[in-house]
Amino acid sequence: MDDLQYGKRNKRGDWAPNEPLTLAPVFQLPFDFKAFLKWIPHYFFPWNIIFAISAVAYWAWIIPSVETMQTLSFGWAFWLYAVNAVLTFLFFGAFELHLYVLKRQENRFKYNGKFPSESKNSVFWFQSQNFDNILRTFLSGVTIWTAIEVIVLWAFANGYAPWLSFADHPVYLAALALAVPIIHEFHFFCIHRLIHTPFLYKWVHSVHHNSINPSPWSSLSMHPIEHLLYFSTMFYHLIIPSNPIIALYQLNYAAFGAIPGHVGFDKVEVGDDKSFDSHAYAHYLHHKYFEVNYGDALIPLDKWFGTWHDGSKEGDARMQERFRQRKAKIAEAQARKAAANPTKEAAQ
Ligand SMILES: [Zn+2]
Ligand SMILES: [Zn+2]
Repeated sequence: MDDLQYGKRNKRGDWAPNEPLTLAPVFQLPFDFKAFLKWIPHYFFPWNIIFAISAVAYWAWIIPSVETMQTLSFGWAFWLYAVNAVLTFLFFGAFELHLYVLKRQENRFKYNGKFPSESKNSVFWFQSQNFDNILRTFLSGVTIWTAIEVIVLWAFANGYAPWLSFADHPVYLAALALAVPIIHEFHFFCIHRLIHTPFLYKWVHSVHHNSINPSPWSSLSMHPIEHLLYFSTMFYHLIIPSNPIIALYQLNYAAFGAIPGHVGFDKVEVGDDKSFDSHAYAHYLHHKYFEVNYGDALIPLDKWFGTWHDGSKEGDARMQERFRQRKAKIAEAQARKAAANPTKEAAQ
């Protein structure tokens, strides 16, 4: 495919789409029904439908019987860890293999012209982004994901959470399933904004941001505290009346759904003239500029809080202006402090 029909490449080899990013037309006012209809398929394909099906498949083939789950034990916890680890390896690995190892589409549609393996960086374990990202994914990522899964399933099995059946509450549960990505967006925005506060950024979130040029393995490369906050989205289903399958959908949405933001390519080519949209650009811009796009624009939270970057020149100017205003504010506060404390400043 000719990626220059869809975007442009700068001198450094970085590709950017021609069209600015748009916000999902769900919570936008005035409500645009036509845009909403056009957007609906994107809500399901290619990603959400995969994660929803994965939850049903887990329930059918992976999750132990309710009786087994009534007792916490290493046996079924380790089984779930093994399945989660194997599926992560296959799912994340498939994107990594296709795009970064075999480089099947070279750098077509690639936001950052460079591949992470081309540069060594001492911020990473073994100076390798890939090694570091893979180890963090399997050591703490899949472990904490599985621990939360075990706790929630155990709570359901023991009647500690309101478990509704699909037979009795089909409409409510269908609506709840449709809301899973919205719950995720809300939760992710809140915890993500939280870990961008200076102290938590320094000690926790900077681990994820070491990957300025993310690849699929960067998706779950986080500090254990971020893993805990990130996967705790499943706990909502212990409070709101739900069903373990929908709780699993919520968890798998977080686990496997971390991929879309970190693919690094705008379109993933399948065959000579077919491709699917990765929906990765908003989060790619977050990795590039840090303080924009805390969410993925399903709920326009970034727009409401003034941190939305749509990839356009105007978006860039808005961001620069915001940074300039913040710098000016800090300088002003420092000047005020110095004026109030002239002797101390002079002594320093
Ligand atoms: Zn990220
Ligand atoms: Zn961040």
